[in-house]
Amino acid sequence: MTSSSGARPEFDLEPGTRIIGDLHVDIEVGPAAATFVNYLDGLHGTPRLIILGDLFEYWFGPAQAEVGGGPELLDALARRVRSGTAIHLIPGNRDFLVDAEFERRTGVQIAPEGLVGRLPGGARLLAIHGDELCTLDKGYLRLRRILRSRAIRGFGRRLPGSLGHALSRRLRRATSRALAKKPAPETLQQPAAALKLAAEARADLLVCGHSHRYRDELLERPGGGPALRWLIVDAFGDPADTFEVSPGGEMLVDSSLKGGEEPGTEQLPAAAPGPILIPSKPEPSPQRTLIIAIDGPAGAGKSTVARMVAARLGLRFLDTGAMYRGVTLAVLERGIDPAAGAEIGALAAELRLDFDEHGLLHIDGVPAEPAIRSATVDANVSEVSAHASVRKTIVAEQQRLGRVLGGIVAEGRDTTTAVFPAADLKIFLAASPEERARRRAVQMGEPQLAGEVLTQILRRDALDMGRQHSPLTEAPDALRIDADHGTADEVAERIVSLAQERGLPSPPG
Ligand code: C5P
Repeated sequence: MTSSSGARPEFDLEPGTRIIGDLHVDIEVGPAAATFVNYLDGLHGTPRLIILGDLFEYWFGPAQAEVGGGPELLDALARRVRSGTAIHLIPGNRDFLVDAEFERRTGVQIAPEGLVGRLPGGARLLAIHGDELCTLDKGYLRLRRILRSRAIRGFGRRLPGSLGHALSRRLRRATSRALAKKPAPETLQQPAAALKLAAEARADLLVCGHSHRYRDELLERPGGGPALRWLIVDAFGDPADTFEVSPGGEMLVDSSLKGGEEPGTEQLPAAAPGPILIPSKPEPSPQRTLIIAIDGPAGAGKSTVARMVAARLGLRFLDTGAMYRGVTLAVLERGIDPAAGAEIGALAAELRLDFDEHGLLHIDGVPAEPAIRSATVDANVSEVSAHASVRKTIVAEQQRLGRVLGGIVAEGRDTTTAVFPAADLKIFLAASPEERARRRAVQMGEPQLAGEVLTQILRRDALDMGRQHSPLTEAPDALRIDADHGTADEVAERIVSLAQERGLPSPPG
C-alpha cells in the first residue's frame, strides 16, 4: 500500500525489507560496482530495499550511466526490480543527478526528501539520508542547497562524462580538505534536528546514514512522550550495515554478508556480528529515573560496593571509569599522543561507548574488557581523562544514560559533584590511605608491598584533588561512609538501607 504525505511517500514495510546506505560505488573501479551487483543479484525474495543515499561515489548523471561499470550497475538494479524487489533511493549529495531517466531505466523509485514506512505493528519509521541533520555545519548545508538547485542539476546533467568526473573529483577533494579542518562536533548529526524532523513526520523511529557509523540512541522528546529511537546504519560493507524488518515489526541489525549472497570481492570485512534485536516500538520514557551516585578516592572499593548495591536494588550499574578507560584504549590503539586534547576530544565525540546487560563496556560494538584494564591504559587514563573536551563529552553521555536507563547506581570520582549533582542518593565512600593501600596490596597478592602502594595512592590522590577539571571533592550533601571498618558487603547493605529509608525502591522479589 502506498500513500503520500507532502514530499515524502509512505509505504507499509514488509518483513524482510532491508535498509542500507553509503555505498559510494565508484563506477570507474570495476570491483566496487561488481560487489554491489553481486549483492543485488543475491537478494532473492527481498520485498523491499531502501538505499539511504550516497549510492555513488561521484555525481551520477546520464553521461556517467554510459561509462565504466555504470551500465552493468543500472542493469543489475533493473533486474532486481523485475524480480520483485521494490527499490527506493533517497539521494545523498553524491547522487544528486539521479533523475526521472534513471528511474525509467532501472525501476528504482527516487525519494528526494526521504520516506515514511509503517512497520508491522504500526510504528512509523522515517528514513532519510541524514546530512540535513548536520545543522551546525553551515558550509555543508549551503553546498547541499546549491547541489540540489534546479540550475546546477540541469548543468550537471548536460556535462559529458569525463568532465563531470573531473569536476566532481575536484569538489570531493575540496570538501574532504574542508572537513578535515572542521572541529568534529560541527560535522556531526545533531539530535535536536533529528527530533524536529521526526516530530514533523510523526515518526517513532528515525533511520539514517551519512555518518558511516552505526548508532542506536534513544532521544528524549523536548515535550515529553515516548523517546525517539534514532538509528544510523554503518557504511555498506561495515559490520552493522543492514537494518532488516523482522516479522514482529522489529528492526534487526545485520551485516550485508549475511545469508547466501556472494560478497564478491575482498573489500567486504570478514567480521559479521550476530543480529541484535531493536524493538521498533519506542520504550516509554521512565517516569522518574532513580540515580544513586557513589564517589570517593581511588581504592576505597567504590566499584565492588556499587555493583552490589545495583544488584540488590535491581538497578543498572554505571562504571564511569570504564568510559574514560575506553577512550584511553582508543587513543593508544590509534597512536594518538595522550596530551593531544583537541584530537582526543574529537575522538571521544565519535566513539560509540555502550554497556551490555552485564554492565561491560563495548567500543564501537566490540567488547572492550579486559583490554581497558591493561597496565598501559592504567598508566595513561589520568592524563586522557583530564582533558576538558573529553570530560564534556563523557559526562554528557553519562547523564544521557542516567536519563534513559531508568535507574542506575553510578560509580566514579565526580559522579556526586559534576555528573549527577541532583542524584537521589549521594554517597562519599571514604577510607584512609593506609587501609586502601593495604587492601590493594592484598588484592595484588603481595601484602608486603603495602608501603609502596601507599606512596602511589598518595600521589594519585594529590593528582585527583589538584587537577583543574572535576577534581575529587566531597559534595556537601553526600553521605559519608567510612569504608575502613566493615566488609564491602556490609557497606553495600548500609547504602541499600539508606536508599530504603528515603523511599527508594526495595530489592526485587
Ligand atoms: O575507576 P577507574 O579506576 O576505572 O577509573 C579510571 C580513571 O578514569 C581514574 O583514575 C580517573 O583518572 C578517571 N575517571 C574520572 N572520572 C570518573 C571516573 C574515572 O576522571 N568519573
